Amino acid sequence: MKKISVVVPCFNEEDAIKFFYEEIKEVFKNNLDSLEIIFVDDGSRDNTLQIIKDYSKKDNHIKYLSFSRNFGKEAAIYAGLSYAKGDYIGIMDVDLQDPPKLLPRMMDILDNDNNYDIVATRRVTRSGEPKVRSFFARLFYKMINKMSKTRMVDGARDFCLMRKDVCKTILSMKEYNRYFKGIFSFVGYNVKWFEYENIKRVAGKTKWSFWQLFKYAIEGIVGYTTVPLVLPIICSFLFFLISIILLIVSFFSNIGFTYLFLSIILFSFSLVFLFMGIIGIYLSKTYLEVKNRPVYIIRESNVRISDDRENKKNIL
Ligand code: UDP
Ligand code: MG
Repeated sequence: MKKISVVVPCFNEEDAIKFFYEEIKEVFKNNLDSLEIIFVDDGSRDNTLQIIKDYSKKDNHIKYLSFSRNFGKEAAIYAGLSYAKGDYIGIMDVDLQDPPKLLPRMMDILDNDNNYDIVATRRVTRSGEPKVRSFFARLFYKMINKMSKTRMVDGARDFCLMRKDVCKTILSMKEYNRYFKGIFSFVGYNVKWFEYENIKRVAGKTKWSFWQLFKYAIEGIVGYTTVPLVLPIICSFLFFLISIILLIVSFFSNIGFTYLFLSIILFSFSLVFLFMGIIGIYLSKTYLEVKNRPVYIIRESNVRISDDRENKKNIL
């Protein structure tokens, strides 16, 4: 029987944990010993950590890592993967939007079909999600797939099950600005896709505001394409051409061009600032990478931190 580790990032999830725990226990009731659940408490400010600790005292299949503050879901995934010991390693949300009952079917595929290294999931509907959010999500996927060589699948969830080797490869990508969807498609391997309809979270509230999703989208674009950096060059050619034409026109006519010039100058300035901003974003991301700060800091846990293999800099 293959061992399976499930990494579960949790941030202020006191209402959802018990539903998740009950359901996954039910799914694995006949082979509980093959299961390891790694809850990663991402600096929750409610009772999340206490609830996880209580469960872990009663059930030795539960491991937990608790961060010193909120580092974000990406950091929680990274930490969980670093400590996972299973032959197959899964990632799932605690709010039951990723149904645990799919896990045995996902394991089946990895057991029986050597052609596949990862079983990933994709939701085919966005029902229950605000319309504006769906619109911008679709726009984001269209844009990023035009600009980046790394393909991002619309509707892909972080919920997946991978072989140990894939996990090792993912861990070998040590960037600070982590964007799992990008890392996932960057590493490649053979992926089997599971599709399902969107499911509403079982309890609690989503942690993503529109602004946070916007920042997440920027993270994806900046992390996986440098196309925006070429825009200023194209634009400067265009502006050069226009300025030459205007110069020639002003020589041969006596109409007052003051207002026209003024608006062109203002327009150019707005573009200059926009491009400075774009360069600034890339620069700031590079700056953060160069600083080489730890992706997460663990304050408390019931796993042996000393045997952390590759991620030495994250040890307290
Ligand atoms: N999460 C986290 N850190 C954060 C935000 C979210 O660990 O800073 C966890 C959260 O507890 C949940 C998962 O990431 O298990 C997905 O979050 P959420 O359900 O809020 O996102 P949505 O499904 O609405 O995109
Ligand atoms: Mg959710």
